[in-house]
Amino acid sequence: MTLTEKYEAVIGLEIHAQLLTKTKAYSSDENIYGKSPNTKTSVVSLGHPGTLPKSNSKVIEYAIKLGLAMNSKIRERNEYARKNYFYADLPKGYQITQDKTPICNGGKVLVKDKNGIKKEINITRIHMEEDAGKSIHDLDPFNTLVDLNRAGVPLLEIVSEPDIRTSDEAHQFITEVRRLLKYLDICDGNMEEGSLRCDANVSVRLKGTEEFGTKVEVKNMNSSRNVKRAIEFEIERQISLIENGFNIDHETRSFNAANSTTVSMRHKEEANDYRYFPEPDLQPVIVTNLYIKKIKQLMPPLPNELFLKFTENFGLTDYDAGVLVEEKEIALYFNKVCCFVKNYKLAANFLNGVIKSYLNENGKKIQDLEISSERLAELINSVDDGLVSNTIATSKLFELLLISNKSIVDIISENNWKKESSKDALNDYIIKAVSKYPEKVIEYKSGKKGLIGLFMGEVMKISKGQADPKIANKLLRTELEK
Ligand code: ADP
Ligand code: MG
Repeated sequence: MTLTEKYEAVIGLEIHAQLLTKTKAYSSDENIYGKSPNTKTSVVSLGHPGTLPKSNSKVIEYAIKLGLAMNSKIRERNEYARKNYFYADLPKGYQITQDKTPICNGGKVLVKDKNGIKKEINITRIHMEEDAGKSIHDLDPFNTLVDLNRAGVPLLEIVSEPDIRTSDEAHQFITEVRRLLKYLDICDGNMEEGSLRCDANVSVRLKGTEEFGTKVEVKNMNSSRNVKRAIEFEIERQISLIENGFNIDHETRSFNAANSTTVSMRHKEEANDYRYFPEPDLQPVIVTNLYIKKIKQLMPPLPNELFLKFTENFGLTDYDAGVLVEEKEIALYFNKVCCFVKNYKLAANFLNGVIKSYLNENGKKIQDLEISSERLAELINSVDDGLVSNTIATSKLFELLLISNKSIVDIISENNWKKESSKDALNDYIIKAVSKYPEKVIEYKSGKKGLIGLFMGEVMKISKGQADPKIANKLLRTELEK
């Protein structure tokens, strides 16, 4: 038995998501990334004596949206709490957060592995809090610099149950949470810029045992790939310690991306006592059922719902549907196109094929696509109805639609692109194609049936993509079997 078969990892993640509100959580300072240091602050974020916070209702709305998307229970009476500690990027000396009364309790996130096997990861809680400022250690060789633009930016902290067992599952969980946040339009999910941050709690135990081992918390991963690498390193480190007769220290470790290892930051015994107490400057927020109902009506379709619709109602494969729902705007565009077409599979091929390549090559988003969903549907229907071949539609016609407002029917007739389905014309192409490779015809006749592809390719080339592939294929077979 290998060590990885002997042991099992237990992992719980804590994710911080910065919210896309216009203003900060408890002040009217602008909430915007990348501005000159210390220009987006005010007496409230600087914690001047005598100033008072005011809670931003958007933060509550966004927290409820995420809770609904994760099937959490939404709390009615929400109190705020102070988490006290001293640090240079925290001028108030405390963060406003929620302690005993997180706005969301319970819930779950559905993850899928690469084979489509599903697993539910339970959510412990989601609570609202504010970010601290940013300490910059690597700009000035002698000093740490402090930028307080981030102080007071609203955060949701999402805490998972220790249900995750592998680094892959952790990666899937982050990817899914990120996708939900983006579908809900409440966080941009950018891990490099720090708008989504993840701490990983990792322990190991002998497979088959119930009891959890001592956990280590790993911080400072700025991509989901690094979370995965940090967990992998940590699992190996812990197993090797146990195998060599050592105990695991209950500590916080920091991930070093340069060599994919973790190093000790502090021991839990030295951990801060944050002396949480109820925030006296903010009224508790009461969330009524009526308000929750109102927010439910504002919820956009979520990826799993769209996935079900695409597979069950539209008959797409799990793979096609999975690719389409990866990005919200693509999924919604596809959904719209499908209001006007009957051939959903063909529409999926257009979206996942020619359109994605065009967007990628030109660094564009689907929102920038010059072709409306109705017009794309018209193009798809012209292929579906046999007016034009798929080859011409995806190469030449698609490109013209990007720059022309003419009707598709006009473009087809002007360019003489109508699909050729007359037997005589097709047979002409076929004779030409076949006579080009006399020795391949002999090979075909002696059993190499795969050569049909070569002849079909030639027919399409000679006909400039216009040949009706279905009919041509049939006629070609007849010709070759002669
Ligand atoms: P702390 O008080 O140290 O913050 P919590 O009980 O609040 O610990 O849990 C924080 C995170 O750690 C949660 O995501 C939880 O699922 C996870 N966790 C708890 N115990 C373990 C364990 N033994 N191994 C791995 N993760 C754990
Ligand atoms: Mg914690």
